[in-house]
Amino acid sequence: MKENIKACWSFPIFSSNKELLGTFAIYFPVSRIPLDTEKEIIYNITQATSVAIDQHNEGVALKNSREELAAYAGALESKVADRTVELKDMVQKLVESNLSLEDQIQITKTAENSAIDSQKLLETIFKNFPRGFVGVVDFNMSVVFIEGEDLDAVGFREAIQVGKRIDELSNVPTQLKKKVKENVQKTLKGEHCSFEVKVENISYLVNTTPLFNEDHVVTRALLVYNNISDQKRVEVEIRNTLEKEKELNELKSRFISMASHEFRTPLSTILSATNLIERQNEVGQEEKRIKYISKIKVSVKNLVGILNDFLSLSKLEEGKVISQPALFDLVEFLESLVEEIQGVKKAGQVIEFIKSQSNIDVQLDPKLLRHIVYNLLSNAIKYSQENKKISLKIDTKNTNLFIEVTDQGIGIPTEDQVHLFQRFYRAKNAANYEGTGLGLNIVRQYVLLMEGNITFKSNLDQGTTFTIELPLNLLKNEKNTTY
Ligand code: ATP
Ligand code: MG
Repeated sequence: MKENIKACWSFPIFSSNKELLGTFAIYFPVSRIPLDTEKEIIYNITQATSVAIDQHNEGVALKNSREELAAYAGALESKVADRTVELKDMVQKLVESNLSLEDQIQITKTAENSAIDSQKLLETIFKNFPRGFVGVVDFNMSVVFIEGEDLDAVGFREAIQVGKRIDELSNVPTQLKKKVKENVQKTLKGEHCSFEVKVENISYLVNTTPLFNEDHVVTRALLVYNNISDQKRVEVEIRNTLEKEKELNELKSRFISMASHEFRTPLSTILSATNLIERQNEVGQEEKRIKYISKIKVSVKNLVGILNDFLSLSKLEEGKVISQPALFDLVEFLESLVEEIQGVKKAGQVIEFIKSQSNIDVQLDPKLLRHIVYNLLSNAIKYSQENKKISLKIDTKNTNLFIEVTDQGIGIPTEDQVHLFQRFYRAKNAANYEGTGLGLNIVRQYVLLMEGNITFKSNLDQGTTFTIELPLNLLKNEKNTTY
């Protein structure tokens, strides 16, 4: 059977971009083709025809999508252009902000450096805070800051740790903590305080001031400790000088009133005695004249005694009296003194000298010791009635000497006893006895100059015992002779 068979050649068509646009096909009649070959050709042609049709359809779709693509690409391009402009804008802004950021970093760095600088400066200032220290305490009573030149001197560098509450500071005196806390509390309420404290014998004037935060609220208290030890010392010296001057003035005025009173009696005695001598001029009146002359002598002696006491007092005031020890036998020394004072005794008075040993060596100032014992014995005589016994007793115990003067006189009222060693002080029961009230004051000062002690016991109308305790000072003497 001869069929109308056509052969077909087909080939693809590409664009200049080598894209497949479609398929070109040529059909032509075939006269004789072997069966197998024929089948194959038919198959191939059928294939080629369907491919060509497909490719044609595809070409159309491709064209459409190409156009769509182009439109899309166009839209895309304009979008990209827009975005690019936006991006450029953004980049521009970024660059600008980056620049300002760099500026800011620079400013921050400068500020940081200046902050570090000022912190260092502050640290240096506080570390070297002259003659004192500075502290800051917060609302919890915790130490926030402490620094200053004196911290080591008072031991506060170890004792006070930043961050600890004032109560927790175990090595700080309780009284000091109490005072500081009281003032910090006031300062935290907005007050400025000023108070004085003493730490390790150093005096400080502390000034406090409230520290405000940015909201003008007090959050901390600043305490500035200024070492005022020197000022204090000067203050004490000035006060002492003023006190001394006041005392001297008082002494002068007391002396004038005392002298006008005490001098009157001996002076009038002298005057009347001289008048009597003048009148008893005849021969045979010698005895009377001698009596008046001895009255004058006693009065003059009294006057000299008062003046001497006053001079001794002035010398003591000026620090001119110093103890000049010498080695001597006290028993012999006092025996001669008792002998000397016999003339002052009242009628019937007896002075008994009691000694524990027949010889007691002492290393003391004989002039001062003489004045002391003479004064005590003359008081015992003065404030005892006639016929009364007076005893002078000496004893030693270890390295000390004890001297006791006992009388059976008028005694000292209890209320006067506490004032007895005060200058010009006289007990109220002594008003009828002559005296200036200087004797015991001088005695006490002399005893103290020899590093001793004076005490007394007295019962009104029964008698008085004065006891003096002095160092024998024999060891010093041994040393002196050894070297
Ligand atoms: P003077 O300066 O002349 O000694 P004064 O005897 O009055 O005068 P103090 O010797 O200092 O002064 O004595 C002070 C006072 O102490 C006396 O006025 C007297 O009141 C009292 N007094 C001292 N010794 C005795 C004593 N032994 N018995 C009683 N009172 C005494
Ligand atoms: Mg006296």
